[in-house]
Amino acid sequence: MTPAYHRDSSFSQVARLHWLALIIALALVGGVIGYNLLLLRHRMLDQEQSRLMTQAKVIGNNLEHQLEVTSRALRGVVDDARILTDPRNRVLANQRLTILADAIPGIRTLVITDAAGVVIACNRPKLIGRSVALRQYFNEPRCHPNAATLYISPPFRSYLHNYLFDITKLLPGKGGRLGGVVSAGIDPDYFAEILQSALYAPDMVSAIVHADGARFMIMPFQGGQIGTNMAVSGSLFSRHQASGKAEDVYTDSYCNIAGEHRMVVLSSVQPPALKMDRPLVVIISRRPAAILEGWRYQLIFQGLLFLLTGVGSSLGLLLVHRRQKALERAARRTEELVGLRYQLLDYASQHSVHELLQYALDEVCRITASPVGFCHFVDPDQQGLTLQAWSSRTLKEFCRADGIGMHYGIDQAGVWADCVRTKAPVIHNEYAALPDKKGLPPGHAPVVRELTVPVIRDERVVAVLGVGNKESDYGEKDMVEVDYLADVTWEIIDGRRSQEELRQANELLATQARIDFLTGVYNRRMFDSLLAAEMTRACRYNEPLSLIMLDLDHFKQVNDSLGHRAGDQVLQKLAELLSGRIRSHDILSRWGGEEFLVLTPQSDITQAIALAEGLRELVEQYDFGSSLRITISCGVTSHCCGESAEAFVARADTALYEAKRNGRNRVERL
Ligand code: GH3
Ligand code: MG
Ligand code: MG
Repeated sequence: MTPAYHRDSSFSQVARLHWLALIIALALVGGVIGYNLLLLRHRMLDQEQSRLMTQAKVIGNNLEHQLEVTSRALRGVVDDARILTDPRNRVLANQRLTILADAIPGIRTLVITDAAGVVIACNRPKLIGRSVALRQYFNEPRCHPNAATLYISPPFRSYLHNYLFDITKLLPGKGGRLGGVVSAGIDPDYFAEILQSALYAPDMVSAIVHADGARFMIMPFQGGQIGTNMAVSGSLFSRHQASGKAEDVYTDSYCNIAGEHRMVVLSSVQPPALKMDRPLVVIISRRPAAILEGWRYQLIFQGLLFLLTGVGSSLGLLLVHRRQKALERAARRTEELVGLRYQLLDYASQHSVHELLQYALDEVCRITASPVGFCHFVDPDQQGLTLQAWSSRTLKEFCRADGIGMHYGIDQAGVWADCVRTKAPVIHNEYAALPDKKGLPPGHAPVVRELTVPVIRDERVVAVLGVGNKESDYGEKDMVEVDYLADVTWEIIDGRRSQEELRQANELLATQARIDFLTGVYNRRMFDSLLAAEMTRACRYNEPLSLIMLDLDHFKQVNDSLGHRAGDQVLQKLAELLSGRIRSHDILSRWGGEEFLVLTPQSDITQAIALAEGLRELVEQYDFGSSLRITISCGVTSHCCGESAEAFVARADTALYEAKRNGRNRVERL
């Protein structure tokens, strides 16, 4: 379990590192995107600001040009004032003013007043004789007379009900006194076009404002706003006035006239050459939200892209981790299964096949979380099954009797038969408990779900192993695991079986090498080696060692009269008789045909003769069936230290020959 734990914790450590790396990467990408967006915003605002400044300059230049032309026209009238104010030249004066007003675009009225402010000449005859003494364009030069000054009046509503502002120069009178003024009323429509041409976006507003704060023109045109006082405290206009600068830019400031945040450029027009008493102020503004509209789309687009990247990569990493975890789990499972194989092998070395099967079933049940586990061996002809083992829990909880060893035909084996027939695993996840347990072992557990797998060897099903009653459905994974363990268990059983067979075969071979197959006593080869060992031992310990060679008398006749098989049975019976009579450490051997040898250690010749006599009598008296009487002749001799085995045996043979010669059914010594 320790390695699994290590792997687990190292996996989560790696996973944590992956997440950290992803977060850092996303933070970096997010940072770069954010920084770029900020830069873009800054650049867009900067660009817009310089564009607005350019537009303000264009309007300013137009305004300046208008003022210059008008100023020049007024100067011309001032230069000719003496002629034009002469009452005799009224017609000429009116004509001159009409020509000038018509020639200079933007001039609506052009008047000459006397020192009292009464219009004495005008391009519009209606106004002649009217007093403009109360108008600021007359009062201002009257109060602050300066021949060089170009007086710019705030906008006002004229007698002709138009909004105008006047550009005025004074006419010098006699003795340095005011002789009157010459004043041009400027048509706001003229500026409307200039202002309009500077607008390139629907949210833009441009205006021309008098230094006093009175708005002269605004575009898009809002009639009611003409004349509005911009010089309220805290307004951008007032701040511009206070700054004393020719141009002010506010990137995103609250504009109290518009009632919203705006980017505003305020530019004062007061060229020194014109000697204007007050400047005119050009104002042009845009809504920052409109400026940044494109940027906002970028923000949303890139934000969404980033979000998608983040979610996508997180999901990807999550999937990779999940897959990795599944692989690790599978590897752990495989490792566990392989470990289990060794466990089973180890267990098998000290337990019976039945115990091993039960142990394997317990493990199979543990792995598949099943209470029921069973194993059957299948007959080689595939026509029947024999129950071998249940899992421990099955025995405890489900069985009244174990039924181990119960054999039943394939037709009575239900689902297990399917497994044998199809040679494939069978899963029943809705396997109703059989009401009639016909053909199943006694006390067979009611099964709700069952998974049965075959063990196949040489294309035949040799065993069926299964599990049942898991709480959830059986699936592919259970199948693979049960299949693996069934196979492993069979492999172990098979291995044990072949080991056992080998041992038995070896044992048989060893026996065959030592024992005469007909009589079951030692054969000649074994006798030879035992004889050699006994001869050595007798000499070393100076103990007597004697040998009896015995042969059936007229055995040929037995064969001839009763048959060879009866002869064999006589030989077997004789061996049994002799074995029963000799001592445990005497060695009986079939020397060949119907001749036997009895080697009797620690027996001298007398004892050996007595034994031979005993054997002879035993045989003589024994009834071999059907009143068949058999006798034996014996040759007895004792071993002399130093002689060969051949010489020892040959002497016994000679003694036997003597016995035969002397009439049979007797014992001779040599
Ligand atoms: P005797 O020894 O008394 O001189 O007469 P006999 O008839 O026993 O003589 P012999 O040695 O010539 O014959 C031995 C017979 O033993 C020949 C053979 O048919 C029989 N014999 C040898 N080995 C076997 C055996 O393994 N089974 C059977 N049934 N007969 C055997
Ligand atoms: Mg014989
Ligand atoms: Mg013989």
